[in-house]
Amino acid sequence: MSVNLQTPIDYLKGVGPNRADLLRSELGIQTYQDLINLFPNRYIDRTRYYKINQLQRNNAEVQIIGKLTGFKEVAQKRGKRLVANFIDDTGMMELVWFRGQKWIRESLKTGQTYVIFGKTNWFNGKFSMPHPEIELQSEHERHLRSAMQAIYPSTEKLSNKGITNKVLTNIIQQLFLETKGRFVETLPDDVMTELKLIPKSEALFNVHFPKTPELLARAQFRLKFEELFYIQLQLIIKNLINKSKIKGLTFDSVGDYFNTFYKDHLPFDLTNAQKRVLKEIRHDLGSKAQMNRLLQGDVGSGKTIVAFMSMLMGLDNGFQCCLMAPTAILSVQHYQGLLELCKLLNISISLLTGSTKASERKIIHQNLESGELQILIGTHALLEDKVKFKNLGLAIVDEQHRFGVEQRSKLWYKNELPPNVLVMTATPIPRTLAMSVYGDLDISVIDELPAGRKPIKTVHRYDNNRLKVFKFMKDEIALGRQIYIVYPLIQESEKMDYKDLMDGYESVSREFPMPDYQISIVHGKMKPADKDYEMQRFVNGETQIMVATTVIEVGVNVPNASVMIIESAERFGLSQLHQLRGRVGRGAEQSYCILMTSHKLSQDSKTRLETMVRSSDGFEIAEVDLKLRGPGDIMGTQQSGILNLKIADIVKDKDILQEARLHAKNILKADPSLASPAHRVILNTYRQMSKYRNIWNYIS
Ligand code: ADP
Ligand code: MG
Repeated sequence: MSVNLQTPIDYLKGVGPNRADLLRSELGIQTYQDLINLFPNRYIDRTRYYKINQLQRNNAEVQIIGKLTGFKEVAQKRGKRLVANFIDDTGMMELVWFRGQKWIRESLKTGQTYVIFGKTNWFNGKFSMPHPEIELQSEHERHLRSAMQAIYPSTEKLSNKGITNKVLTNIIQQLFLETKGRFVETLPDDVMTELKLIPKSEALFNVHFPKTPELLARAQFRLKFEELFYIQLQLIIKNLINKSKIKGLTFDSVGDYFNTFYKDHLPFDLTNAQKRVLKEIRHDLGSKAQMNRLLQGDVGSGKTIVAFMSMLMGLDNGFQCCLMAPTAILSVQHYQGLLELCKLLNISISLLTGSTKASERKIIHQNLESGELQILIGTHALLEDKVKFKNLGLAIVDEQHRFGVEQRSKLWYKNELPPNVLVMTATPIPRTLAMSVYGDLDISVIDELPAGRKPIKTVHRYDNNRLKVFKFMKDEIALGRQIYIVYPLIQESEKMDYKDLMDGYESVSREFPMPDYQISIVHGKMKPADKDYEMQRFVNGETQIMVATTVIEVGVNVPNASVMIIESAERFGLSQLHQLRGRVGRGAEQSYCILMTSHKLSQDSKTRLETMVRSSDGFEIAEVDLKLRGPGDIMGTQQSGILNLKIADIVKDKDILQEARLHAKNILKADPSLASPAHRVILNTYRQMSKYRNIWNYIS
């Protein structure tokens, strides 16, 4: 009979209620199953012994054979510590205990040979090892040792309470004894054969107690694959369920608006990427299911025209459409841009923001309900209950990371049937990550910039080169161009940032005096109306320089601006730098981005600056960002459970992720309900997971 892996760990020999509580609270381990899935962080070589004179000041974990030559107690601020001298034939070091001193004093003897293991510190001119694992050499000889001993995740509290790595190892060993190391297989035969995966039981054994480095690698591969495979399976199933359950509004035909615009009014040739994306959208809109699509495209890749043409498909089928942007300025820009196009086609379009006058607002509300108004552009104001559409067919959300998922879904409830939804973002989320995080959305990517764009020249300059930078600014302004100077974000608490901005503004004002020069300033502490006013002056070309914080980060379009200067650039994240740089290079002129920093730069800052100077590819930059910061900080991933991976790493294991997704997809394509006997093992595992582990935590 096999052991039930859902047994609480309290029942495992050697655990007991106290340890069980600690394992639960510190590592979230409730059951046998959880314990088996506590995967080592790394492995160390326990076949290697160091001499004291070989130690390095690097805090490494080492194993040393030697003798205790004496104890002393040293008083300290609170209580005392116990220090033992430990020697081998090359030198002397100290072992230190802050707790459990009585027991140590009684059980360890001077003159005997011990093997110690632990992290070394360099302190007061000598090496010491606090709370070493220590055992008599004779006892040590009896254990099996491996060149790859597992080191498990731990917490300070666990080690303080005596649950050391050795104890954890013993507990896991006990679990293998009780279960005889036999675990139910969770992957189907054909996948196992195709990928030459080792069986589950063998993988689990070798990940905890590797026999050889090769077996360890194969064990890790198999377990990572399995983990990613089931997550992908869940995501794809969720997506399929959405598609079959959520009936959407179907846009059957492509009609006059779209065709006329395409034939007669398209201001430029679409890029191939834009064409492809439009086809994907067209396919969704023509199907019976609700569209839920994420449109990714780097800044300047031309998402707006795609949005507009998608709206035309809606209008051609008698539906209304809306476009929601995160700021008033952006909404105004969209409105002004699209108004021109709408005039050509005789389409009615309105703008609704927080500052729309009550009288205008009333008219908009009426025309929306009567169906007279075809396109509505605006901010969050669109979400208000008073805003009622006659028949909203397509809702487009620009720069989605500024909106929560909740706001997104609020748009749905403006109809009996949910409108089709297109979410546009310029935050280039690496594809691998996107498909894990947004697995329930379909994804389109515009991965090509319109032809003829001049790449932005990016340089890194130190603060002491500022005079040269000022000179360069004057030259550009003399050519009729405009310039942004951006400072790090102002937060309430950060007085320094505010001071930096104001100091900067003052020195720029001195260097660029009125009336020859006009300067705008925009920051987070200003009233929205004042911000809009200053911004608008810059947009209209009344001011040549815009001194600002990152409030201008999203979407503003001033094609005449050709220089972006970023102050304290080392303090910005990579994706933010890239977004800021995207504010220039929108016109026909050569554009520049100047990253200003002090000389003090961390390694990460240097990597960020070098990446910016080298690359203008948003996706490449996002990959570097992901490597530097981990997925936790990337926009939109914060709440997604993809961070709860137990063994796989979303960045390092993206090839495995791709493989896993492909297999999950193919299996579901061939057998959507997992009914075939060959897939029984998947169905069982899937059910088991949803039952016990609340797999939805993984997803959203
Ligand atoms: P984003 O994707 O950042 O929202 P926009 O839609 O604002 O980019 O487009 C940036 C600029 O590129 C706009 O001025 C737009 O008119 C122009 N543009 C878009 N597509 C093309 C194209 N295929 N060829 C030339 N210019 C284009
Ligand atoms: Mg845009």
